[in-house]
Amino acid sequence: MKILVVEDEHKIANSLKKGLEQESYAVDVAFDGQEGYDFAISEEYDLIILDLLLPKMDGVEICLKLRKQQVHTPVLMLTAKGQISDKVNGLDAGADDYLTKPFAFKELLARLRALIRRPKNNTGTTLKIEDLTLNTSNYEVRRGSKLVKLSSKEYALLEYLMRHPEQVLTKKQIIDHIWNYDADVLPNTVEVFIGYLRNKMEKPFPDKSTLIQTVRGFGYKIGRVE
Ligand code: CA
Repeated sequence: MKILVVEDEHKIANSLKKGLEQESYAVDVAFDGQEGYDFAISEEYDLIILDLLLPKMDGVEICLKLRKQQVHTPVLMLTAKGQISDKVNGLDAGADDYLTKPFAFKELLARLRALIRRPKNNTGTTLKIEDLTLNTSNYEVRRGSKLVKLSSKEYALLEYLMRHPEQVLTKKQIIDHIWNYDADVLPNTVEVFIGYLRNKMEKPFPDKSTLIQTVRGFGYKIGRVE
């Protein structure tokens, strides 16, 4: 899952990036409104954390422009204490939720999980494909009852696949959602990480079905073998 943080206070922006990366999200940061808008319109994000008061273009204007351009990425708007009328403005502009500064990081995590958690086939915090389960609140992945230990990037990749079951995802889509804008991603990086996942969730279970399918020339999908 990839998140864009648009926040002109460097200290807040950098601590958000650090905290979110520890939670396995890929994070891009923009420090002013124009840069934020440019990122939001040109990259695919799963969520945008948008400060209200920003140099060059404010949060409400960015939101309005994005919605006008048919970009419907969920937006969590950050407001300073007491900006109630701005909240109303932001709501009209198409933000999905609000958080008043200062906030607890845990609260932010809960809000963004709620915004990202949208697929209809999965309820609560557990994603499930056959006997593979992924719990987004404690990061536990299990095949049947057996725990599968994943690295942060492996987990992020698996979560992305599981949020799009039975859907072919191209390498480009996967890279766009799992790695930062400025990350060094080699052409075979996705293959390498798919290999790691297979080694951990398929190889140790030879009598169980294969979960990740390679669709030659297109990409990968997770789900049943036809
Ligand atoms: Ca600000």
